[in-house]
This record gives sequence, structure tokens and C-alpha cells, in this order.
Amino acid sequence: MAKPLVETEGLRKSYFTGAGALEVLHGVDFRLTEGEFAAVMGPSGSGKSTFMNILGCLDTATSGVYRLLGEPVSKLSADELAERRNRFLGFVFQGYNLLPKSDLLENVGLPLLYARVGSSERRRRAMDQLEKVGLGPFARRLPGQVSGGQQQRAAVARALVGKPSLILADEPTGNLDSQTSDEIMSLFVNLNDEGSSIILVTHEPDVAACAKRLVRFHDGLLVEDGPVEGRRTL
Ligand code: ADP
Repeated sequence: MAKPLVETEGLRKSYFTGAGALEVLHGVDFRLTEGEFAAVMGPSGSGKSTFMNILGCLDTATSGVYRLLGEPVSKLSADELAERRNRFLGFVFQGYNLLPKSDLLENVGLPLLYARVGSSERRRRAMDQLEKVGLGPFARRLPGQVSGGQQQRAAVARALVGKPSLILADEPTGNLDSQTSDEIMSLFVNLNDEGSSIILVTHEPDVAACAKRLVRFHDGLLVEDGPVEGRRTL
């Protein structure tokens, strides 16, 4: 049986503000196994980012269980969470989040720097990933010297360089025109075909239709979870 990568049971999250506690996740049960490609949709404010931040070990739940590769994370310290994040997860964001003064090769190698990989191996592995996403010739350019689509490709290469168990992508096509968005989505589809596991948040039905599974949030609850009907091919 495929290994569960993430499992949540009765996951709840409250934010504590001046006005008191505001619960924004009301008990979410979710499980994702190796090789899956899930799109997460739902209206603004429905809890998608809160859920993704917990899955990404960027935040912790108020109650309920979250297991990452079988390990409950609620008891882990901030340092331990950071270590799991770096070892098991790759992140892609809407705004690319590349360091503007570092070239693409250095940006892609960054997770390896955090993992204390030596500089020559770091360069070699970063270059391999850049070539894999078609950016070999642009390795020495700064982010500002390439297009938005190329910056997002570099961000995908950065997410992959540490060989993560799971890729978490938050609106990765949100800043791109539809053609460039399709190029990035075909990159994700290829990665999934090669075995990568992906969870991707999007507002766009066309983007979600490239995934294999669709998860929908509404008012802090997971209200729909099933296979994508009529999967879009690119
Ligand atoms: P989505 O990603 O679906 O737009 P979010 O997870 O960002 O939804 O937000 C869910 C709810 O939690 C919203 O009502 C939002 O205002 C609230 N919220 C998010 N972050 C915080 C925070 N740090 N403090 C207080 N409320 C928050």
C-alpha cells in the first residue's frame, strides 16, 4: 500500500486576537499518500492557507493530529519543525520568492545550503535541477533578468533540489498569463508522472483540472474530496 505522507485527524485551528479566539479550521480529516497530486480550492477566507501552513510545518494546529510521514508534529520544537520542513517539503509560492541579488543557480541551491551540503555538490545539484526545468542557459542570471514564468520554473527547481517527499504549492500560477500558467502546470504534471507528490492551492478551475484529486474547503471545513473529473491534458 502507498505510504501516507500527510494525515490529519480532527484538525482545528484558532487565532487569538484582541476580540478573542476565532476558530478558522473546524476539524479537518485529510490523508495524502505517495504519488498523489491534489488541488485545493475554496473561497477566500475558507481556511486553505491556514491548512497549508500547518501541513508545511510553518504553523501548528490548536488541536487534532497532524502526522508528517507517520510522525505527529504537534510536540516538535520550532527547530525540529524547521528541520522536517527542510528535509521533507518543497515550497512554491505565488510570488516566486527568489532572492533578487542572487543568481538562479544560487537561489536553487539555497535549500542545500541550509542542509549544509558543500558548495561544489550544491552547485552541481542546483545546475541539474535548473537543466531539468529548461533553465540551464539562464543559471547565472538574476531573477530580475528573466521572465515571470522562468522565475517560477527556478522556484520549482529550488523546491525540488532537496529531493522532498512532498511539494506544497500556493497559487503557483496566480501571477502568470494563461500560456505561461499552462507551461508551469505541465511541469507539475511531469513531476507527478515521475513520482512526485504535490498539493497545490489554486483559485483557477483550469489549473485544478490538471491535478488528479480535488479538495474543496468552505468555512473552515473540507466539504469535498474526490478524483478530478475530466482531467485536463496539456
Ligand atoms: P484562505 O487561504 O482560504 O483565503 P485563510 O486560511 O487565509 O483562508 O483564512 C481563514 C480565516 O482565518 C479568515 O477568516 C482569515 O481572516 C483568518 N485568519 C488568517 N490568518 C489569521 C491570523 N494570523 N490572525 C487572525 N485571523 C486570521
